[in-house]
Amino acid sequence: MPSPSGSPPGAPRHFTGRRTLLLAAGAAGLGAPALLAQTPPRVVVVGGGFAGATCARDLAAAGLAVTLVEPRAEYVACPFSNAVIAGLRQMEQQRFSYAALEANGLRRIAQPATGLEDGRVLLADGTTLPYDRLVLAPGIELRFDAITGYDAAAAGRMPHAWQAGPQTLLLRQQLEAMPDGGVVAIAAPANPFRCPPGPYERASLIAHYLKTHKPRSKLLILDAKDSFSKQRLFEAAWQALYPGLIEWVSLSFGGNVTEVDAAEGVLVTEFGRHRADVANVIPPQRAGAIARVAGVTDASGWCPVDPVTFESRLRPGVHVVGDAAIGGAMPKSAFTANAQARACAAAVVALLAGETPRPPKLINTCYSLLAPDYGISIAGVYSPRNGLLAEVEGAGGISPADAPPEIRAAEAAHAEGWFRVITQAVFG
Ligand SMILES: Cc1cc2nc3c(=O)[nH]c(=O)nc-3n(C[C@H](O)[C@H](O)[C@H](O)COP(=O)(O)OP(=O)(O)OC[C@H]3O[C@@H](n4cnc5c(N)ncnc54)[C@H](O)[C@@H]3O)c2cc1C
Repeated sequence: MPSPSGSPPGAPRHFTGRRTLLLAAGAAGLGAPALLAQTPPRVVVVGGGFAGATCARDLAAAGLAVTLVEPRAEYVACPFSNAVIAGLRQMEQQRFSYAALEANGLRRIAQPATGLEDGRVLLADGTTLPYDRLVLAPGIELRFDAITGYDAAAAGRMPHAWQAGPQTLLLRQQLEAMPDGGVVAIAAPANPFRCPPGPYERASLIAHYLKTHKPRSKLLILDAKDSFSKQRLFEAAWQALYPGLIEWVSLSFGGNVTEVDAAEGVLVTEFGRHRADVANVIPPQRAGAIARVAGVTDASGWCPVDPVTFESRLRPGVHVVGDAAIGGAMPKSAFTANAQARACAAAVVALLAGETPRPPKLINTCYSLLAPDYGISIAGVYSPRNGLLAEVEGAGGISPADAPPEIRAAEAAHAEGWFRVITQAVFG
């Protein structure tokens, strides 16, 4: 595979950014010693999820001085967390430590970044980190101002479970406690949001749990959209696997949840009120808060970026990757986050070496599990066009509508294999 920058893969790089600066200081009689002139440029990466951890890893492997800023002691992965909610998987299988990254020499600072000032990242304890280039990968922030009555406290009764961890377990516990014959409601947001097929995978796996443990129960999806990812495949599977169990209410038929009463378990839409025994409210989202503080979000709440370098359109020297970024057709997924992070790392390495980054070709595949042995997928290829990441026509694909059970089972196994490989590559 060609190197994304001008140099052949594996060729030693000569970084110019910081060295030039120091040599210039020396030339001006400021006394920069020759030894200092060898110091590699400093890159700070904020956020140690699929995007940030991948990027930090690649940048460190290229010989840069990388600091990863991530406050949490462990990463809890969202992919496959729907299987935890359905009782098909243990939460422990979602947890990943930063120990391997640190053992490989990556410096991690266990604090949140709180701001940005004159080429320095501000940390919660008041200290600062200087950088030559900064990569922000903070994921999402849930918009607790979007649905009346749905704030952080309400999420304690109506879990979103859209950031894996205690919320995932809360939703699981609520399903277990619900009597047979109960109603589960999922409120799904409008686009764009993290993991477009995620609410429908969740609906499928919860339906699997209900069918096998509480067969008189019902599942209602209240949707702020009129269509969703892999819709035909999902709906065909729901008919085949869970007939009569799942009802999907689209935007046009009154699916948009505008208000909740968490104490009463009520979801209010433009067309009426729904009472649920278990309510999973997935609110609209925006880029993680630090992106807004850093001045790299636009009016949409997301971060516009250059599709070649992932450099912010709003703040030079700052790159944004993963869920926080927007810049075209790529859906927000862990697969995307990993692909963007690798391309961004290659571009940062090239820029710091004084080279021109090459336009990337990025792949995304979103697998969804509809039952333990029933998987489907959608794949796309993306490349820069007119300043955005555009889908390459004819290069992607979706699982066939009429596939036999062996194919669905094989896709379920592929999904597990993908998760094993990507988590090993990023955190192993
Ligand atoms: C239910 C569900 C199922 C999913 N299934 C799939 C799937 O099957 N396949 C798939 O590809 N994707 C899936 N996804 C989507 C995937 O989880 C996200 O797209 C992915 O996690 C995005 O990675 P990220 O690194 O951008 O953000 P995150 O994974 O959210 O990582 C962001 C990190 O930044 C840190 N951070 C935030 N703010 C700061 C700060 N101020 N300072 C320092 N650190 C900070 C956070 O602690 C966090 O560790 C799913 C999502 C959900 C909710």
